[in-house]
Amino acid sequence: MGSEIEDIKGKLNIVDVLGEYLRLDKAGSNWRALCPFHNEKSPSFMVNEERQMWKCFGCGKGGDIFSFVMEIEGLEFREALKTLAEKAGVKLQGYSPQKTKEKNRIGEILELATKFYEVQLWKGEGKEKILSYLRERGLKDETIKEFRLGYAPRGWRNALSFLLKRGYKADEIMRTGLLVQKAGAQIQNPKSQNTQYKIPDTNYYDRFRDRIMFPIADYSGRVVGYSARVAPGGDESQAKYVNTPETEMYHKSKILYGIDKARMEIKKRDWVLLVEGNMDVIAASQAGIKNVIAVSGTALTEEQINIIKRYTKNIKMFFDMDSAGQLATRKSIKLCFAAEMNVKIVELSAGKDAADIAREDPRKLLQAIRDSKGAMEYVLLKAFSRFDKSEAEGKKKIAADVLDMIASVENEVEKSYWIKKLSQDLEINETALTDALKKANLRNRTRRNESAEEIAGSSDGKNYANRKKIEILADEIIGLMLSFQSVWKRVVEKEAAALAFSKDSLLNVLVKDGQSLDFDFEKLEDFLRKEGKEEDKTRAEKLYFEKKYRLDLNNSLEEVFVENPLLELEQIVKGIEIEMKREKLLKITTDLKMAEEKKDLKAVGFLRSEFKKISDEIFNLGQ
Ligand SMILES: [Zn+2]
Repeated sequence: MGSEIEDIKGKLNIVDVLGEYLRLDKAGSNWRALCPFHNEKSPSFMVNEERQMWKCFGCGKGGDIFSFVMEIEGLEFREALKTLAEKAGVKLQGYSPQKTKEKNRIGEILELATKFYEVQLWKGEGKEKILSYLRERGLKDETIKEFRLGYAPRGWRNALSFLLKRGYKADEIMRTGLLVQKAGAQIQNPKSQNTQYKIPDTNYYDRFRDRIMFPIADYSGRVVGYSARVAPGGDESQAKYVNTPETEMYHKSKILYGIDKARMEIKKRDWVLLVEGNMDVIAASQAGIKNVIAVSGTALTEEQINIIKRYTKNIKMFFDMDSAGQLATRKSIKLCFAAEMNVKIVELSAGKDAADIAREDPRKLLQAIRDSKGAMEYVLLKAFSRFDKSEAEGKKKIAADVLDMIASVENEVEKSYWIKKLSQDLEINETALTDALKKANLRNRTRRNESAEEIAGSSDGKNYANRKKIEILADEIIGLMLSFQSVWKRVVEKEAAALAFSKDSLLNVLVKDGQSLDFDFEKLEDFLRKEGKEEDKTRAEKLYFEKKYRLDLNNSLEEVFVENPLLELEQIVKGIEIEMKREKLLKITTDLKMAEEKKDLKAVGFLRSEFKKISDEIFNLGQ
């Protein structure tokens, strides 16, 4: 394979390969461009033709043609290798030729089928009713051709017989998703693996019958599947849309309808219009918005976002305003936030879809896009219009609704901005919201990385994970102590020793001064304020709140009922003891390694017995 890579590199010039994606300008002996991987106004992306390397001085990415294609197309190395090999006309020997050949045949079949459906639309049975229907819906002939719309005629074996006649076998065609196998056909001969037995062709039939065909292509324009709409006047009892099932070519969670046509424009404009359906894409594209794609028959997935991210970080979403569309919008916003994408929402009061608007008045669509709101602003508006902020119950619901979204925001600065905004709009204490947000965060199971650096001081991953656990347990115990005086008392009287080695300053105050504070939360607050321990005070309030309330599944705050606080205390203390001992074990392991290297036998012996002793203790605690 190594020689193949060299072969490909020898045949392709980096300037040509990258030039297909970027506008390269000559800069001295190098070439320069705006980096496609981060947002910038002045170019810091350099291409060195002599060394056949690229490097962005803005975001630090760099490499050769392979890494570039991987990065920009979102491909695995093997796929990038294949793409570039094709471009270079290099045959890949090591690339399981059998499988590639088979895959090529599947691709050929899909291409041929697409042509077949196109012919049926323009010259065959579809010429009358389907073509005029599409024209009535405002599509120009050139648009229909550009998107390669077609028609799958009525009848059970049209595509099948056409493809059989072209020399493809039924089981090959089956793998494209174009066929359905009759129930029971596969069990006619259970021992068929090692016999010549073949399922007769008559046991297959066309999946798509009397439907308008929307071919779905991958990023390079290769057809991988179809979305098929029931024909006007056809059997409306059937599903309106039928899509290709998962096949080796068609992975629905990675499909973005229109990406092959839109990707260059998306990159150029640095934003993408994300719509709901295929017709929306086609109509918007015809109206001049070429940077448009659709999720096809699924909710937006992480994989799709990763693909979009190759081209831009800016998404404008235009989903239907019905409740299903609203829900999809919310879910999609969350995913985008988590991926640090910038999201805007395009909204129309009229409750029409993008295709309608684009057809009726493209200017309206453009205006709506221009008027699009930031996603969080949109969420706020929605929440405030749904619930009544003048009532306590309404406030609670608005807070829960919006916090749920804020929790998905990855950027901390943005997060605190929205908390502030929400607190002003709701006239609620910011701290209370921050606290509730922490709960929402926990519920969303997002990584807790606030104080990662300070804890990771040793930069030892294991030690860090361990520290993190102790910290979480300390939070737990403090929350419990502040919520239940009985627990606080018990800790001071009985568990102080177990927690003596804790480095937690708030926990230390609780243990040391609990008695003199009468185990009283308000006295503690006063004490911490007087001592100038503002951080500890905020933390105490936060932990108290977290122990007392949580967001339930409907995003309402609910009070947490602790059945047996003392029992819970016992378990937490045990947990802390175990984690502290584990921390010791880690230290011993490191020391042991050093002692062994130095051949210090005495130390080795001592450390080994220590190791065993503590391991036993951990074991006993775990019982
Ligand atoms: Zn860059």
